[in-house]
Amino acid sequence: MRRFLCAALAVLLLFLSAGCSGPSAKDAPAVRELFAMDTYMTLTCYGENAEEALDAAEAEIRRLDALLSTGSPDSEVSRLNRDGGGELSEDTLALVKAALAAYEDTGGAFDITVLPLMELWGFPSGALHVPSDEELAQALAVTGSGRLSLGGNILSLEPGTEIDLGGIAKGYASARLMDLFRSFGVEHAIVSLGGNVQCLGAKPDGSLWRCGIRDPEAEKADELAGILTVRDTAVITSGPYERKLTDPDTGQAYHHILDPSTGRPADTGLASVTIVSADGALADALSTACFVMGPEKAEAFWRERPETFDMILILADGSMLVTEGIAGAFSSSRSFTVIRE
Ligand code: ADP
Ligand code: MG
Repeated sequence: MRRFLCAALAVLLLFLSAGCSGPSAKDAPAVRELFAMDTYMTLTCYGENAEEALDAAEAEIRRLDALLSTGSPDSEVSRLNRDGGGELSEDTLALVKAALAAYEDTGGAFDITVLPLMELWGFPSGALHVPSDEELAQALAVTGSGRLSLGGNILSLEPGTEIDLGGIAKGYASARLMDLFRSFGVEHAIVSLGGNVQCLGAKPDGSLWRCGIRDPEAEKADELAGILTVRDTAVITSGPYERKLTDPDTGQAYHHILDPSTGRPADTGLASVTIVSADGALADALSTACFVMGPEKAEAFWRERPETFDMILILADGSMLVTEGIAGAFSSSRSFTVIRE
């Protein structure tokens, strides 16, 4: 009885010290929804400065979008593409460095010089064009990050080469948001930038965030292949269900993740790749790269650096492979195979 009274008193004190708003208002998340970087985003954050942090986060996303968008002629990336290079701002420099490192690491599977190929296929405009072999050969001739050179903060592009940071920008942005939230004293936050998730800390009650992994075969985004519980990490998925263009004559669909060695949409038997890593930009680059590599190469790639990231591969036949670092945190109604070192 005495213990109960003490506990009741403690709770009462907690109420009083929290002021008129009370603990429930304090613990309620602040949520912001927006459309940027060509996708829907949801930002959720807890704590005293949550609203101010969300204002700053939204401004930061819009700033990065204006810097990196290939669709806007005024962006820094468009200027670089037009001028064959030039001086890079701090963010673009960090992104290009990360992209070049990923190009080296992945044997060219991640390659930001895919823009001429993306344009050839009609992805930016949405008007599909299935290219001829000759057209592909022409675009491939100006593809390859070996055609980029970075000296200090000056990037040079060989003639005809153009960059597209779309395969890494959202992961970079979500990582920037985590830094920004920290600077506002926020300890618990989660953002979803078009299904690409990054979280700060755990939930305010100490439990882990539950991150749904979409079933790539399902029509709707809320049909899940499984749930991953996480804290302080990025969970980034690449899957062709995101953006597909369909040929009205043949019914054939083409997706936006290109194999830089063929110039065609990567066709490796994968339906989606989810990368889990504390480094958001790396997770984003690797989700695209592992999709291009296909299951066997992606598995071998992970075995060479199991400390760097974990992944969930969903194959076109519905089977799932999960690396051992996150296997215990993944739950699914379907069976899955654990990839071990
Ligand atoms: P999403 O942006 O749909 O979440 P990804 O992160 O996989 O998916 O990025 C796909 C985008 O990356 C494409 O829209 C294109 O801009 C760019 N891209 C396509 N293929 C590659 C590639 N092999 N390497 C780097 N970037 C790519
Ligand atoms: Mg990516």
